[in-house]
Amino acid sequence: MSDSLRDDVCRANVDLAARGLARFTFGNASAIDRERGIVVIKPSGVPYDQLRPDNLVVTDLGGRVIEGKLRPSSDLATHLVLYHAFDQIGGVVHTHSHYATVWAQSQREIPCLGTTHADYFHGPIPVTPHLEHSEIRGEYEANTGHAIIRRLSGVDPLRMRAVLVAGHASFCWGPSVGEAVETASILEEVAMMAYHTVTLNAAAGPIPAALLDKHFFRKHGPDAYYGQR
Ligand SMILES: [Zn+2]
Repeated sequence: MSDSLRDDVCRANVDLAARGLARFTFGNASAIDRERGIVVIKPSGVPYDQLRPDNLVVTDLGGRVIEGKLRPSSDLATHLVLYHAFDQIGGVVHTHSHYATVWAQSQREIPCLGTTHADYFHGPIPVTPHLEHSEIRGEYEANTGHAIIRRLSGVDPLRMRAVLVAGHASFCWGPSVGEAVETASILEEVAMMAYHTVTLNAAAGPIPAALLDKHFFRKHGPDAYYGQR
């Protein structure tokens, strides 16, 4: 398989740790090559400083290991459900970054309280309901993915590239695994800002819809004009 995808996924996982988004081994990143029908993902439980492109795990879209001696991340099934449901995405990142996880544990969506949030996410960051007992006892990781898909029903996954899983943490995605890491970084910053905003003013409300649209669509979509051409 192409080494560049291994390099991208290795760098993404190392970046999660370097940016302080994944302490210990609480996080994983993967990428998909849809033409070849393969996913490259972090091996389970391996510290980030021991990750190398050649010890990543390659699976097919059913989760069967094609290359690699190590077991894939235990969250692989969640990543696969997201890849099947969102055909525009090329990378998925899961982290227990502190502030996003605090919101997930509080079972609260992150309201769009300012334009920093609106620049990257078109609306509040959604939170799933808790899984049912049968979903936890069954195919837990796949059912986590299904809960995310249900929660994002009717939402363009490129306009909302993150979700909070209740009592757990965030999943983020993007057209590439590098962009998914970027989203996870921005999500953590936005989650921290929102936490501090509601701490300072519990009555702070979301910004007006017109301001949300202005900031989101000047950076994303066909009429974007932010940055250099
Ligand atoms: Zn987790």
